[in-house]
Order: sequence, then C-alpha cells, then structure tokens
Amino acid sequence: MTTIQGQGVCGGVAFGKLKLLRKSSGKIQRHHIEDAEKEWERFQNARETASRQLNDLYEKACNEVGEENAMIFDIHRMMLEDLDYLGSIRTYIQEQKINAESAVSMTAETFSEMFASMDNSYMQARAADVKDISDRIIAILSKNEVDGFTLNEPAIIGAEDLAPSETVQLDKSKILAFITEKGSAASHTSILARTMNIPAVIGAEGIMDDTFADTDIIVDGFTGHIYIDPDMQTVLEMQAKKQQTERQNELLAKLKGIKPVTKDGQKILLYANIGSLEDMPAVYANDAMGVGLFRSEFIFLESKTYPTEDEQFSIYKSALQKAMGKRVIIRTLDIGADKQVDYFSMPKEENPAMGVRAIRICLTRPAIFKTQLRALYRASIFGHLAIMFPMITSLSEVQQVKELCEEVKAELREEQIPFRENTELGIMIETPASAIISDKLAKEVDFFSIGTNDLTQYTLAIDRQNPDTTPFCDLHHLAILRLIHTVVENAHKAGIWTGICGELAGDLSLTELFLAMGVDELSVSPRLILPLKQKVLSCDVSEIKDNLLQKLK
Ligand code: PEP
Ligand code: MG
Repeated sequence: MTTIQGQGVCGGVAFGKLKLLRKSSGKIQRHHIEDAEKEWERFQNARETASRQLNDLYEKACNEVGEENAMIFDIHRMMLEDLDYLGSIRTYIQEQKINAESAVSMTAETFSEMFASMDNSYMQARAADVKDISDRIIAILSKNEVDGFTLNEPAIIGAEDLAPSETVQLDKSKILAFITEKGSAASHTSILARTMNIPAVIGAEGIMDDTFADTDIIVDGFTGHIYIDPDMQTVLEMQAKKQQTERQNELLAKLKGIKPVTKDGQKILLYANIGSLEDMPAVYANDAMGVGLFRSEFIFLESKTYPTEDEQFSIYKSALQKAMGKRVIIRTLDIGADKQVDYFSMPKEENPAMGVRAIRICLTRPAIFKTQLRALYRASIFGHLAIMFPMITSLSEVQQVKELCEEVKAELREEQIPFRENTELGIMIETPASAIISDKLAKEVDFFSIGTNDLTQYTLAIDRQNPDTTPFCDLHHLAILRLIHTVVENAHKAGIWTGICGELAGDLSLTELFLAMGVDELSVSPRLILPLKQKVLSCDVSEIKDNLLQKLK
C-alpha cells in the first residue's frame, strides 16, 4: 500500500479504480481509439470551432488591416471544407482507428509535402497554410482533451490540475472522487466538487505516477489521505468510516421539513448553491428553501459556443419549474479569472482575477449580456426568479445594469412577450469597494449576497488559485468579518435583505456570529444544508449577541 497525503476539499470516502487524466504536452501522442464515429464527431466539433475562429479573425482583420490582407483567413476557412483534406482525416480515423490529433497531423504532413513539391509558387505557399489550419484544429482538440476522456464505468479521476471548464465536461455520474496534484481549496474546481458532493483531494503530489493507473484506491476527502492498493486493515477502517458518514446523513435527514429557527426564535433562510440543472435534485433532497446562487456561467463553460437565448431560456425556465415556487437566484455570467471560455476569445491577461471578468465582460459585450437578460426575464413567469449581478464595484455599474434590464423589458413589452415586471434584482458583494459603499448600493437593489470567496481574495490580497498563499489566508480575518457586518447593517438600514453565498456561509464555527449580525440567508452547497440547519437549531443567540459583536470592535 502507498499513501499520499493531500488536502481534502470535499468530505466523503470513495473506493474505486484510479483513472489518470493526462492533458496534451504539446507533442501529439498517437493512440488507438475504440469508437471511430465518436472520434470523427470530436474532429468535426473542433473543425467548426476553428471555422468560427477564422471567421472572427477575418472580420477583425477586415476592420483593422483591410479586406485584401484579411483574405488569408477566408482562404484558411475554405480549406477547412476541402473534401480531400477531410477525406484523408476520416480515412485515418476509421481505418487505422487513431485519435483525431494524429489523423490531422498525418494528413497535414502528406498535404503540405504535396503542395511544397508543386511547380506553381501559389500552390507551394499552400503548404504553410495546410499546416496552419491543422495546427489550429490540433490545438482545439488538445484543449478539449477532457471531452475525449470518457469513463466506461465509475472511477476516481486523477489529474495534474483541472480547470472548471474541464470539470463540467466530465460525466459526473461516473466520477467517484477527484484527486489533483495542484489546485486550491477556493478554486471553482473545488467548489464544483463540493456542489456535486464528490469527495475531492487537492495537492496530492505523486498521484500521476503511471504505475498507479487502474489500481484500486481509497480517497478520504475528510483528511486528504489517498490509499493506493490498500491493505485489508485500511479497507476495513475506511468502510467503517464510510458507513459512519452514511449513518450521520441518515440522522441529518430527519431534519427535513423542520424550519431553521434558533432556540430563541430567530429565523434564517437556508438556500443552496448550484452550477447546473443537474444539481436541482440535490436541492430538494437536502431540503433547501431555495437556490441562493445558480452560477449561470457553467452553462457557458459546458457549451461549445455562445448558448442562444432559447437554450438559456429553457434552462432557466426548467430550474424555476423544478423549484416549485421557491426563490431561485440566478447569477448572470461570471466568466473570467479561472473560468475561461475559449469561444469568448478573451485577450490573455497578466492578472485575470483583476481583469475583465464577470460584469465587466457583460458591460463591454452588451449583446451577450442582453441575450442572457432576455432569457431570464422570459423565464421569470415560471417561478420565483431573482437576478443577481457579480463583481460589482461601483454605483455606476449597477445603474448601467439596471438600464440594460429596462431596455430588455421594453423590448419584451414591445414584442408582447410576458415577463414578471417586479423580478428582484440583487448584487453580489464580493469586492471591498462594494462592501464599503454598500449603504449607497443598497438603495439601488432588492437584495445583497456576500461572495466571501472573492471578498477574501480581494481584501486579503490572496490569489484564490494559488495554494502557496494558503498559509497567509485567514478566512476569519477581522477585516472580512467587519465588512460582512457593515454590509448587513447597511442592507437593513435601506430595508433590503442580505445573504452570504461564498464558502464561509457553510463554516459552522461562524453560524452564531452570522445570526448575531442578522444575516437573512445562508447559501451553501446542497450537502451542507442539513448540517447547517442542525447548527441553527442548536443556537441561542439573543443572550450572547452583544458579546459576539463586541469581538468585531
Ligand atoms: C464568491 O466569490 O464568494 C462567490 C460566491 O462567487 P464565485 O465563488 O463563483 O466567484
Ligand atoms: Mg465570486
């Protein structure tokens, strides 16, 4: 037995075979594939993405350097339709059963050699072009390699690191646990694991050793231990731990139907954070009173291109219908930082967490934002929708957002499309700036939700993606707790409610303090709802409230 110690970021014990997910190293690895049709489809998807990229490049170049110079991108786009080129790739995939990257690379070599040997100088120049388009497709295929990583049976995934866009593309029903060599507890991949309730360990150095592939392992997401080829004693201990967790969950399940009210009668709303429609069953299974944060950007991360208004509408409508009248707070697109989406073609940034992310993208690309707003307003008649905007730092951003909402509403009125006029609008308080001016912001919106993940990152100057900063990250830092208190006070003065939807909301050691502050709602991953309810039921805050708040002085 080999033991690896990492950091547990989602509790739970999992038994299973380890599957190693390797990403492209830049070199094209040729490997055998089972399903040629599926591989051809993967190639076709990459080809379509390449075609769209070239179209965008053509239009951009037309504006910047004129049509004549832009022509090359149009030629490249047409080459992607060349039947001989496509036929060669298809033959390699179907007859030799090799992966699409190798088929493209071998085709590129044959075709460029053929062009280079021609007498005509125009045709000779095409040799470079065929290499160019092939490199583009290979790059797209390699980036989406996770797409091609299919699990035939449930397994434990080991990876060097996983980006949120890669994680959302994996078949969740087949993942027993995640293990990564890198990663940080506050990253969206860790958050996703917690939302999906999949045991997860990060910082597990050595897990990518080839000799561990396909071995039986046990993951303890509570302690961060990984047991490779475990001995009998460890198997028995871990089975006992798993059963104990299941028994605890059965006890917690008895709290379903009971309202979360403290012993002294203080009420609080317990909502769930979700990333997709697939998480909705966990919302009822854990008795959440609503959805406090639907991270809509995961719809964009799962998609190969911009989701259309109708596609988004049907997802939002379905979420609202499934919630059966409970409030669903859908956060508008929060792309950027660690949540990168290829088809947004965002310029590379030195410091993306402080770059053009979330509301900044929405305000600079209003067409994308308005599509989402239209879909949301159209869905609003199917349940209790609240719309929330991320990464707000100023009053003017809120005003611009509200103007865009009014524009969308006017369009819908004009088109006689029904929507709920009084759909609640809220903002995330996740920057120190918004917390400090929360008195002013509170007059503009219906509610606040405090995003402690980013609030911590920006207040303590801690990059949430960088595990080396963990020793400097005090999640209970006085600055954060004071900011939360200020926000709650300012919200209440203006007569609006405020919740917390960052990971701190589920920190049971802070529940009493949050109740003392008067936080109206806590939104946590579904698996934490019942433990949090148990905690709330055990609290008696009125007597100790002053003492608790005194600690913030
Ligand atoms: C937060 O920042 O606390 C938050 C809830 O948003 P996200 O984690 O998606 O950035
Ligand atoms: Mg955030």
